[in-house]
Amino acid sequence: MALQRTFSIIKPDATERNLTGAVNAKIEEAGLRIIAQKRIQMTRGQAETFYAVHKERPFFGELVDFMISAPVVVQVLEGEDAIVKYRDVMGATNPEQAAEGTIRKAFAKSIGENSVHGSDAAETAALEIAQFFSGNEIVG
Ligand code: GDP
Repeated sequence: MALQRTFSIIKPDATERNLTGAVNAKIEEAGLRIIAQKRIQMTRGQAETFYAVHKERPFFGELVDFMISAPVVVQVLEGEDAIVKYRDVMGATNPEQAAEGTIRKAFAKSIGENSVHGSDAAETAALEIAQFFSGNEIVG
């Protein structure tokens, strides 16, 4: 598998509890390299665009409110098979189902406030990276 990039968000429940470094340690221990990173306050519009795929779901409003409730850290991660590798390190969406050693098992509060986002496919990774980073902010 070739070198690949994925998009990551450290969500408000994690930044509020000062867990940015702890999450980053798990990312780096998994062999992924953080090649771009910034802390931002997401706007409602940015959050609605980012999660547009979920706009018909009953939890959409709650999800958008959560994502703008505190700063987030947006990141680009690089590594071999980075998309699947990061999904594995994140763990299941619901922390009650997340495997031992995963970020969500260690830190997530609930299925909604689950500490991290990671892209699910190459196409979405490219779109998500482009929503938050310009090319010269990514240094691989
Ligand atoms: P992911 O790819 O593992 O992040 O999961 P999904 O793409 O299915 O969902 C996107 C995000 O929506 C999740 O990470 C949660 O933050 C949120 N979410 C998913 N299901 C629920 C739910 O049942 N309730 C609430 N409040 N949020 C949810």
